[in-house]
Amino acid sequence: MAETVRVCELNWIDYDRRLREDAPVVMLPVGSLEQHGPHLPMHCDALIPTAICEAVAARTGDLVAPTISYGYKSQPKSGGGNHFPGTTSLDGQTLIFVVRDVIKEFARHGVRKLTLMDGHYENNMFLVEGIDLALRELRRDGIDDLRIAKLPYWEYASQATLDKVFPDGFPGWPLEHAGVMETSVMLHLHPALVNMDKVPTHPPADFPRHDMYPYDPATVPSSGALSSARIATAEKGKMFVDEYVDGAVAALAEAFGEPRAAKRVVA
Ligand code: ZN
Ligand code: MN
Repeated sequence: MAETVRVCELNWIDYDRRLREDAPVVMLPVGSLEQHGPHLPMHCDALIPTAICEAVAARTGDLVAPTISYGYKSQPKSGGGNHFPGTTSLDGQTLIFVVRDVIKEFARHGVRKLTLMDGHYENNMFLVEGIDLALRELRRDGIDDLRIAKLPYWEYASQATLDKVFPDGFPGWPLEHAGVMETSVMLHLHPALVNMDKVPTHPPADFPRHDMYPYDPATVPSSGALSSARIATAEKGKMFVDEYVDGAVAALAEAFGEPRAAKRVVA
């Protein structure tokens, strides 16, 4: 049987043995189900960190847990907002408790090195809170040696790559929702899920500095994309993904020491 990096494809006996013998990092991707314009599928924020985690694990001998596929509510300036049909979000406390509960379960089974990789901007502080509650409760249960790394994959893009991909200047990560980076990465990872004929060509969204609650959906481009992905290519996507994987491999080594592949050769 072929080696798998996916926890959900292992039987419980092999999983248990891997945890005890190899002490792998378990990587947990977190995403959202959120509209990404007319040209991308709604699962971009889950598909991208999942693919990066799987590529990292194949190199390091670590494992990838099933992705948390729903995220916190989409916000106008970073995800277009929660009013779009299809954008299916969790209340903050629900996400916090999902994160807390799965972390505690991993710890109960013997995981001591855990990584969360977030693909959806709005999740950030809810993940922090879920991590904090889990660590607090685990300490009370006598488990005080679980360590958790949280990686924002997009921050591993180098300035040189950003300069190459955005010759007219990088608009910043929030406006990249369904923009050049996510579209390029999807063209590289999942080309069959991208329709470049439908890429919006409108100018980038122009938001005021302040936020309004409730917000006016008319302030958000009706396409759902916050900038145009017309210069996206699969080659740019590969440049990004290569840096994301290299960056995450290096981060795991820094956080947890020796790559686990030293103990286990992954085909
Ligand atoms: Zn996204
Ligand atoms: Mn998102």
